[in-house]
Amino acid sequence: MDSNRIPERIGRLGELAYNLWWSWNDQARKLFRALDYPLWKESGHNPVSQLSWSSPERLAQAAADPAFLSLYDSVLAAYDEAMSPVDHTWLHSNYPNLLTGPVAYFSMEYAIHNSLPIYAGGLGVLAGDICKEASDIGLPMVAVGFMFPQGYFHQHISVSGWQEEEYQDLNFDEAPINQIHSPGGGVVLARVKLGDVDLAVGAWHVKVGRTDIYLLDTHLDENPEPYQQLSARLYVSDRELRLRQEIVLGIGGVRVLRALGINPSVWHANEGHTAFMTLERIREKVAEGMSYPKAQREVRRTTVFTTHTPVMAGHDIFAIELVEKYFCGYWEQLGIDCREFLKLGWEGSSEPQNYNMTVLALKMADQRNAVSQLHGRVARKMWHGLWPDVAEEQVPISQVTNGVHVPSWVSPELNRLLAKHLGEDWLARHDAPNLWEKVLEIPDEALWAICQRLRRKLVGAIRERMRTRWLEDDVPWTHMLMTGALLDPEVLTIAFARRFTEYKRPVLILQDIERLKRIVTSNWHPVQIIFAGKSHPADLASKSLLQQVYKIAADREFQGRIVFVEDYDMHLARYLVQGVDVWLNVPRRLQEASGSSGMKAGLNGVLNLSVLDGWWREGYNGSNGWAVGSPDIYTTPQEEDESDAEALYRLLEEKIVPLYYDRDVHGIPHRWVAMVKETMRSVMPAFCARRMMKDYIEKLYCPAVKKP
Ligand SMILES: *Cc1c(COP(=O)(O)O)cnc(C)c1O
Repeated sequence: MDSNRIPERIGRLGELAYNLWWSWNDQARKLFRALDYPLWKESGHNPVSQLSWSSPERLAQAAADPAFLSLYDSVLAAYDEAMSPVDHTWLHSNYPNLLTGPVAYFSMEYAIHNSLPIYAGGLGVLAGDICKEASDIGLPMVAVGFMFPQGYFHQHISVSGWQEEEYQDLNFDEAPINQIHSPGGGVVLARVKLGDVDLAVGAWHVKVGRTDIYLLDTHLDENPEPYQQLSARLYVSDRELRLRQEIVLGIGGVRVLRALGINPSVWHANEGHTAFMTLERIREKVAEGMSYPKAQREVRRTTVFTTHTPVMAGHDIFAIELVEKYFCGYWEQLGIDCREFLKLGWEGSSEPQNYNMTVLALKMADQRNAVSQLHGRVARKMWHGLWPDVAEEQVPISQVTNGVHVPSWVSPELNRLLAKHLGEDWLARHDAPNLWEKVLEIPDEALWAICQRLRRKLVGAIRERMRTRWLEDDVPWTHMLMTGALLDPEVLTIAFARRFTEYKRPVLILQDIERLKRIVTSNWHPVQIIFAGKSHPADLASKSLLQQVYKIAADREFQGRIVFVEDYDMHLARYLVQGVDVWLNVPRRLQEASGSSGMKAGLNGVLNLSVLDGWWREGYNGSNGWAVGSPDIYTTPQEEDESDAEALYRLLEEKIVPLYYDRDVHGIPHRWVAMVKETMRSVMPAFCARRMMKDYIEKLYCPAVKKP
């Protein structure tokens, strides 16, 4: 973007566009919208594109418009405050001298905003929310990830209901990123040996408030062509490519931080993908003359590892031969032999059969955590083999329940209502439980009006997506009906929006088709269900589940009340978690480590209808939503499916639908609104990223920086 085009009076718009802080400040979003609404929409809410497309006339007009200037000045004042030194923040008030260097956070994906599509799902959302909250709370953080130019795919559904993937190349000039140059001026910051190739690694800088994210890049001219493509896409199925990516992320990531002169005091590995960073830090210490055992102890002490899934397929396991191929020559530098090296990724005492990244991370981090209370228990059981001499409850894996970044996910409409009733500074105090007692004082009419407004906004946004699809791709009109054209903004709306994968059971609600049909097509009290979510490109089983849903959406007997909306992403997620009435989640028990979309829904007053798995096991209190079935574990999956489907239908028929349509003379469902309030009151302070970040600091970062 050429910042010379912007008139001086509003000259800092460029700076603002390049710091994703704007994305979680309502006033800043309003500023860019006010600058040029059509371009704001056309750019997909990307101020960097918007500014480079804006006409000089429009920019000059804005620079002379008193209303725009007053908004501009107040946004910049808030921005300067948010970016100022950390001496007024929570961290500084409570732990002023905790850290000598920043926390280095390593993650394969980051979901910060749609204009930077380098995420696939929940893991990325968590990483993005952590970067944002670290900034808000005053925790110095540098994050390391990958600049995937094609990121994750865009999803289209064919006329036969089959998912098709489309990869789009990111336009680097119009993304909120800046390429980093070394002191010598080149773009190569570090080198990593991959077999015979000495790969050059560069990086892009992303500003997320005060947090710096460095996205590694191998698409450099001097790398051999196939290696340039190494970091093109996220979650490739090819095992060797995946291993190469993880070597670059772990080892290259540490080297890039060193090249930038950064000395972290805590190293946080988010999921096993990033675990090679521990080896590289041992190598550094051994190179300085430390013994391997001492170097390993030092690295372990300062490393935090978060495990995210009980599903085995979610853990990276590599063949021994592959690991040998890429690490022969490296283990010598650690001061150990091949066998000892391979044993780091193997659970038992027998000869290593494969190399498990989660095992490596668990062995190399003294601070380990799961992501909900239930997941903590599951993880301790799952990894008991690593600590065979202690009782299961004593397995040293603790838990920090996930949380979501409230300013990013709360609707602007609700934000304003809460400011009125809780105080203008409610966002600064949103994790204080007693603040939320005041929610009860909000008039039902005012809160219900917002629920209504957001549902209409959601339906409008889905229609807008279809309009674009229709104009650009000329899809058949029948396809438009199945993807949302018949949505009714006045009807009880349920969302099932999450990755399509078997354990999440997207078709559970289709078990008894006739019963479901009766529920959704009721003349008196109709219900509509919005499905959305991507299948992993290689997961054919889950693609056929998606096809089953699409077939139901196409069935006229369902009267267009079941729809599948394509290309679930953060943008659509925001509309859904803010605009539906009920958030449906029915994973097979013990497989959902935490889940976070239900938290986003809950803080917006959307009622959760969920199996007591993941976060809902600790979030459900009997009056803030519904529990599908019991917490019991079933003997067979069939039994579990039948029992849960029955429970789900009964809840809909006997509780949810009657409650929703029980209105007073003004059309207000008071008992429903009471549950909306209870949901906000119970979810907001307990499942926000602020509570999570404070937990990370107190339970994991503090021990990591304590001198031995
Ligand atoms: C929040 C979010 C997720 C995570 O959803 P789960 O509840 O963990 O299934 C996935 N994708 C997007 C786009 C999200 O915003």
